[in-house]
Amino acid sequence: MVMPTIVSDRFASLDYIDYTNNHVFLKRSTNSGFHEHHDNHHHHGGQDPVGPSAKELIGNALHQRVEKIDHEFCEPGDEDTFFVADLGEVYRQHLRWKLNLPRVKPFYAVKCNPDQKLLELLAALGTGFDCASKAEIEQVLRMGVDPSRIIYAQPCKTNSYVRYVASHGVRQMTFDNADELRKIARLFPDAELFLRILTDDSSSLCRLSLKFGASLDSTDGLLALAHELGLNVVGVSFHVGSGASDPGAFLKAVQDAHVVFQQAAAYGFHLKTLDVGGGFCSDDTFEEMAGVLRAALDDYFPAHSGINLIAEPGRYYASSAYTLACNIIARRTIADMPQPISESNGGAVMAINDRHTPSGDASYMLYVNDGLYGNFSSIMFDHQNPVAKALRVGGRTLYDTPAAEGLSSPTGGVEYSIWGPTCDGIDRITQSIRFSLVLDVGDWLYFEDMGAYTKCSATTFNGFSNEHDVIYVCSEPGAKALLGMH
Ligand SMILES: *Cc1c(COP(=O)(O)O)cnc(C)c1O
Repeated sequence: MVMPTIVSDRFASLDYIDYTNNHVFLKRSTNSGFHEHHDNHHHHGGQDPVGPSAKELIGNALHQRVEKIDHEFCEPGDEDTFFVADLGEVYRQHLRWKLNLPRVKPFYAVKCNPDQKLLELLAALGTGFDCASKAEIEQVLRMGVDPSRIIYAQPCKTNSYVRYVASHGVRQMTFDNADELRKIARLFPDAELFLRILTDDSSSLCRLSLKFGASLDSTDGLLALAHELGLNVVGVSFHVGSGASDPGAFLKAVQDAHVVFQQAAAYGFHLKTLDVGGGFCSDDTFEEMAGVLRAALDDYFPAHSGINLIAEPGRYYASSAYTLACNIIARRTIADMPQPISESNGGAVMAINDRHTPSGDASYMLYVNDGLYGNFSSIMFDHQNPVAKALRVGGRTLYDTPAAEGLSSPTGGVEYSIWGPTCDGIDRITQSIRFSLVLDVGDWLYFEDMGAYTKCSATTFNGFSNEHDVIYVCSEPGAKALLGMH
């Protein structure tokens, strides 16, 4: 059996001031790692020698939690999945946004991750919010955010919600069809309307244009109807699809929006805002995407035009800030036995046994306590491929060490498939991954970049909880100050 040998003892020595309510905050933190962040932004906080880096903060929070849990004795649920959220990463993403798209004010898309602490930080940073339901709008208003910082960006709205926003002063909303205009004329004639146009979303992870968006040959008619109904059209919006990968989609959409601004002027509408939607990824593609968008905006909506620019990023802010830890609850050994050559069983390929230690080239099926019906709903709904890493194996914490990583070679180490806890066969997280270690029940895995479209779309199918703890750390003093964290 291969035992891990790499253990970091840095976990022992840090100075905690608060470890109550699952909130872990460190007394000392880094100064901003923002500049390095651009070279390799993933989970890099500062590297100030006197304070821990973002990785160290996250690693500590993970370690503190899992080292206390012994699956042989713990209460049901003690070993549940949990998140560690680094709010400093959200802060860095905000600075990165401002650096790359200084003219564009972000309205965070709440649906992506409605974590209250995340929303509080964004509210303190001054972003707006894109909401699509009464509950989302309520959550944002409850924080004391002014209604003018909310856009109700759902082109097909619930009547009672339209009455609700009308009575709470949330005036900005989108539309993309004539029926919706008549609804708004009846229920909220003073609303400030954004005409959402269709985009080419063919390069995005989650296509939206099948469902939403007015085609350019319908915009003129919609503007005519809005004019006839005496409605107040104030802007144009679009969404190039969630998880967009073709910067050209932004250029085309900005050009189309420009056409609609001209059309609107012919009806006497003086549009004042362009909303460039969401779709931005937090990985290295952001700079290129933002660069193309910035240039298109400078060409078609230059600063001297006086047009306000807003956007609705969701995953960009949330994704990289959240790390998920899952417990291995069961293991099935698939021994690579000499193949029984038998006509009667058709030459069965796999023999399953329950021996603790494998012989030869055994592989394993690992069952963890979270899956496609839980926080890995992103695999189904968001076309993600979360990557497993070894967090704690045989009582040793491996976070952010070479031993934590899956092997890149398709042959070395030990092969695993990773499955969720429900009884459904589709509930598989990873088809095949290799580690140099032998993982067993009670060990922990972690998955990075789990902040977007994960917890928010988890279910309680089969009786598994969808209310997982979030441990907050903060690798940026600026964000801590905004949140009143010490
Ligand atoms: C989902 C959604 C967003 C956020 O999309 P991301 O890809 O997460 O940035 C923004 N605007 C609207 C209208 C949406 O439906």
